[in-house]
Amino acid sequence: MKITTRRAVIIGLLVAQAASLLALFFVSGRIAADAESDHQNALLNTESAEAVDRMRAHIQPAESIVQLSSSVLADPSIESESLRDSFREAMELSPQLDGVFVGGADGSFMYVSRDGDGYREKTIELIDGVRDTTLVYLGADGLELSRESDPADTYDPTARPWYQAASSGGDVIWTDPYVFFTSQQLGITTASPIVVDGEITGVVGADLELGSLSRFLTSIDSGTDGRSIIVNQDGVVIAHPDPGLIQRPVDDGLETVAIADLDDTQARAAVASYVLEGADTDAQLTSYRVDDVESRGSFRNVEVGEGVWTVAVFGPEDSLVGNLASARATERTLLVVASILGLLLVLLAGTRATRPLDELESHAWSDSLTGLPNRRSILRSVDRDLTNDDGWSSVAMVDVDKFKAVNDTYGHQVGDEVLAEVARRAQDSLPEGVTIGRLGGEEFLIVMPDAGISDAWEICEDVRRAVRAAPVQHSTGALDVTVSLGLATAERPASRDHMISVADVALLEAKSTGRDKVVSGSGPRSVGTETG
Ligand code: GH3
Ligand code: MG
Ligand code: MG
Repeated sequence: MKITTRRAVIIGLLVAQAASLLALFFVSGRIAADAESDHQNALLNTESAEAVDRMRAHIQPAESIVQLSSSVLADPSIESESLRDSFREAMELSPQLDGVFVGGADGSFMYVSRDGDGYREKTIELIDGVRDTTLVYLGADGLELSRESDPADTYDPTARPWYQAASSGGDVIWTDPYVFFTSQQLGITTASPIVVDGEITGVVGADLELGSLSRFLTSIDSGTDGRSIIVNQDGVVIAHPDPGLIQRPVDDGLETVAIADLDDTQARAAVASYVLEGADTDAQLTSYRVDDVESRGSFRNVEVGEGVWTVAVFGPEDSLVGNLASARATERTLLVVASILGLLLVLLAGTRATRPLDELESHAWSDSLTGLPNRRSILRSVDRDLTNDDGWSSVAMVDVDKFKAVNDTYGHQVGDEVLAEVARRAQDSLPEGVTIGRLGGEEFLIVMPDAGISDAWEICEDVRRAVRAAPVQHSTGALDVTVSLGLATAERPASRDHMISVADVALLEAKSTGRDKVVSGSGPRSVGTETG
């Protein structure tokens, strides 16, 4: 395929268009990836912030009731009956509370816990050093259903984890998870000491079962496969959307599960990707791979009592960005379609817009009347042939005989038609590799590369015979036309101008000696004998 200026321009346009589309594709891909990443991080941070807020809201009632009650109880005039009622009311308002109680330094105890839909109240009183344990069962409406005493009871509040933690800790403490005495469930207790004249006279506590702490996590939306967990400062998982995973049976009940032993690969990998550095309000973002899945997590450390809990929200990237990923896929498809349309448009518009280039190019190299190479082009062919290594080169000048008479008789229009037909006949008679071009007017030049005198002579004779072979049809009739040829043959290296002038002299000789003949620059070799 010949590379014309027009083709080069169209290819250039296509390449430029393709390059800019590729660049756009690349940049948009990167922007989309960045946006996706930012979106994931923002989403995770929002979710972990929400998880912290809800976790605080979940434990707040427990902290409030113990704080409030412990300060009220510092006033010894308070009635135990009204305290019992306020404990029960707190539990009614906050379904996450599993029990509220107060233990005295003397071993006395008052405990309100859930019992089915209703409540169970346990009271240990010490009257003159003698224990009296009473159990009262109440309905959901708070009315007493039954009452019994339990002389065999040995419960000592001061020996319990919450009492010990509160009497050695600060204002409000949270225990590590332990097994609750009554329900035998794993839970944590918040507790606050009752201080009278600088002495601890008792401790108020409230229970949260780990199961109830876990339940609120399931309401946090972290994408399809994302989730949230809470781990305490010792690496014990205290909340997980599947509460069954964070406890396991042992001989005497249940025990907690450390994050390292948790049967949740995502959660283990997520927490392992993060380093706890004290209580911190800023979220920590991490990226990690689990089972070849790119995942991310957002972690927040929260001070709870004397401890620090880590609230973690994490999950596979894909599940965190669901909609965004599919939006991005759609955007890519649109971009591909737009790119293809863009390229087609450039191809169409480019083909149209550059059409004049082809015309310009053909004007530059060909003759518009005959379609033959023009003067510039045919002279260049001579030059090209003459640059070859040693060998023979031949050129022949062709001139239409008595052409002026054609114009004068039939008009310029017919003259043009005759010229075009002469050109066509001459060209059709040439062997491959031989070129004829129009020098100007009714004169042509034949370039015969590597042709010696006898080959060249044959070619010229063929042309002469082809032109005179039949009358030329034109718009107003037909007429006999002949041409005369002047041939020049030289051994290379040779000069173009010299060859052409030799051919010119030979042509003049053909004209002056009767026309319709070939004359070689070295002398006439043959005279046309046929008559028209
Ligand atoms: P000879 O046999 O000696 O060549 O006679 P001639 O009449 O062909 O020679 P002359 O050179 O006197 O005339 C050539 C004529 O060709 C003159 C010009 O009007 C005519 N001519 C040149 N170019 C064109 C062209 O493009 N179209 C037409 N119709 N005529 C042309
Ligand atoms: Mg002439
Ligand atoms: Mg002529």
